[in-house]
Amino acid sequence: MTHRTDLDAGRGRTDTNLAEERDQTDVRLERAAPEAERPASAAVNEAVAAERAGTDDSLLTERHEADAVVDRTMRLLADERRELGASKAALAGRDEFLAMVTHDLRNPLTVIAMDAEMIARSTPDEPSAARIKAWAAEIGGSCKELRRMVGDLLDFAAMEAGAIRVSTVRADLRRVIEKVVASFASRSTATAPSLVAEIPGEPLLARFDPDRIRQVLTNLVENAMKFTAPTGSVKVRAAPQGGEVLVSVRDTGTGIRAADLPHVFERFWRLGEEGGWGLGLYICKAIVQAHGGKIEVWSEVGRGSAFSFTLPLE
Ligand code: ADP
Repeated sequence: MTHRTDLDAGRGRTDTNLAEERDQTDVRLERAAPEAERPASAAVNEAVAAERAGTDDSLLTERHEADAVVDRTMRLLADERRELGASKAALAGRDEFLAMVTHDLRNPLTVIAMDAEMIARSTPDEPSAARIKAWAAEIGGSCKELRRMVGDLLDFAAMEAGAIRVSTVRADLRRVIEKVVASFASRSTATAPSLVAEIPGEPLLARFDPDRIRQVLTNLVENAMKFTAPTGSVKVRAAPQGGEVLVSVRDTGTGIRAADLPHVFERFWRLGEEGGWGLGLYICKAIVQAHGGKIEVWSEVGRGSAFSFTLPLE
């Protein structure tokens, strides 16, 4: 629509200017007429020729301008066509993503279904408490994984539709950290690295959405535990810094290659096939930003990683 309007406007301007040029030439010719009524002199003919030449020059200039408008319009149309191509590619990417999601959702669901069947079949004949507990734990683990993945998916859909919403309250950040660390301690196994919290003795009052910040911390700690050997450690620290509170999750794990670091907060970015869809850190970043904070990463292969974020102090 805009291009057509540009084109029409360009042509309209050319026509109007052309008409004006011709009118002005005619007026000038009429003025020259009284002299020309006397015997037509060579001077008058020359004047007429000069006027005509001037009009032709103006016409040429107007034509160039009109051509420029047409060129610009064609360029805009080409841009629009390119943008349409990009949207189509984005849609194809989304379809691919949904296909992957459906596939990945099936795996934990299959484990749940199989284990449930094992429990049902085995319990009457084989009442071994240890085996039943192991299956039950597997069911619990799969369910948790499934819940996180579905949660990520829902957050992602919400982000596509707009921004992640946070409802903030003034609260002590230490409580959230303690809860997250305690939840990991309760499911800690011999193959998990040590997890400790280093928090100040006095309240860390900040304005935040407790559920959302718990989600961010859980994600960061989960990643840290996943990429750290049982002999390693994960530390959660929080302390005021300037007008903010700085929270960090530091591990002594595998670390991330420098070339990969710029991508960790990108959506769908992940190394390896295990775990989620590469949405966890992308969602963490959106949540922290929705609080007016900033999330950063430091990492070195072989030494470990540190993810830190800030929240406004109150
Ligand atoms: P997902 O939601 O699939 O778990 P994330 O966005 O949380 O993905 O993480 C993306 C990728 O970042 C992971 O696949 C992993 O390669 C890398 N990563 C995240 N945290 C750590 C960490 N603490 N140590 C090493 N690599 C990490």
